[in-house]
Amino acid sequence: MSTIAEAAGWLTGDVALITGGGSGIGRAVAERFLAEGAKVAIIGRDQGKLDAVREASGKPESMLAIAADVRDSAALHKAVRQTVEHFGKLDILVPNAGIWDFNRSVTKLNGEQLAASFDELFSINVKGYLLTVEAAWRELVASGGNIVMTLSNASFYTAGGGPVYTASKFAARGLVNQFAYELAPKVRVNGVAVGGMNTDLRGPESIGLAERSIGDSFARSTITGNNPLIPLHDASVDPVDFTGSYVLLASKRNSGNITGQIINADGGIGIRGF
Ligand code: NAD
Repeated sequence: MSTIAEAAGWLTGDVALITGGGSGIGRAVAERFLAEGAKVAIIGRDQGKLDAVREASGKPESMLAIAADVRDSAALHKAVRQTVEHFGKLDILVPNAGIWDFNRSVTKLNGEQLAASFDELFSINVKGYLLTVEAAWRELVASGGNIVMTLSNASFYTAGGGPVYTASKFAARGLVNQFAYELAPKVRVNGVAVGGMNTDLRGPESIGLAERSIGDSFARSTITGNNPLIPLHDASVDPVDFTGSYVLLASKRNSGNITGQIINADGGIGIRGF
C-alpha cells in the first residue's frame, strides 16, 4: 500500500485511542485508522502538535487531541474518560509512545548515566504501557475490544538500541503475553514489532538526547541496515507502510480469534537467524 486512500473500512464504527499519536508511527496509525472508518483519540505531550495533526487529518470531527503524559495515571484515566464521553465507547487501544537510547551501549555510559537513562526510558516505554492499559481495560472489557502494542525489532534482536532500550522492548513483549492472558476472553492483546522507521523518535532528556531525532540522525540506509528486504524490494522506512499490521490485528472481523501474537514488521531481520 502506498497511500492511505486505498484503505478498505475494516474499522468502521470502532473508537481507538493511540498514545504518542502526534508523530511517527502513532500518527500514521491514527490516520490509517481514520481512513478505515474509526474515530480516533490521540495522546501526546504537546497539545499544539496534537491539534495540528487533528486539523491536518481532513476529518477533525472524527478525532480528539488530548495532552497527557503516559507516566501520569490520573491524566490517562482522564483521557480515557474524555474519549468515551465524546465518542461513546473505546474499542481499540494502541500503547505506542516511546523514546530510544540512540544505541548507548554499556561501554559508553557511566553508572550514573545508565541509572538516569533507565529510570526515564523505562518510565515511558514500560510503565507508560502498563498505566495506559490500566486506565483503559474496563472500557475495553465493556466493548469486547482489543489492544495493539507497538513493539520493535529490539523486542527480539540485538543491535536495535543499547541495553536499556532493548530491555524495555523485551519487557513490552512480555506485557503482550501477560495482558493477553489476564484480559482473555473479553479483550484481545497483540503487538506489532516494527523495524527501523524514519520518525521523530527522541532520546532520554536525562542524558542529553531529548533534542536528537532518529530521522535527523541516521541515513535511510543505516535505519534499515539489518533488513534483508531492502536490496530487492526497497522496503520502506516510512511509518505509513507499517500501518497494515495494526489494522489487521485491531479488526474484530479479521482477527477475532487472534490474541497474544506479534507481527514482526521488520523487513525480515529474523531470517538471518540471529
Ligand atoms: P516519534 O517520536 O515520532 O513518536 C513517539 C511519540 O511519543 C512522540 O509524539 C512523542 O512526543 C510521544 N511521547 C514520548 N514520550 C511521551 C510521554 N512521556 N507521554 C506522552 N507522549 C510521549 O517516534 P516513533 O518512532 O513513531 O515511536 C513510536 C514507537 O515506535 C515507540 O514505542 C518506539 O520505540 C517504536 N519503534 C520505533 C522505531 C523507529 O525506528 N522509529 C523502531 C522500532 C520501534
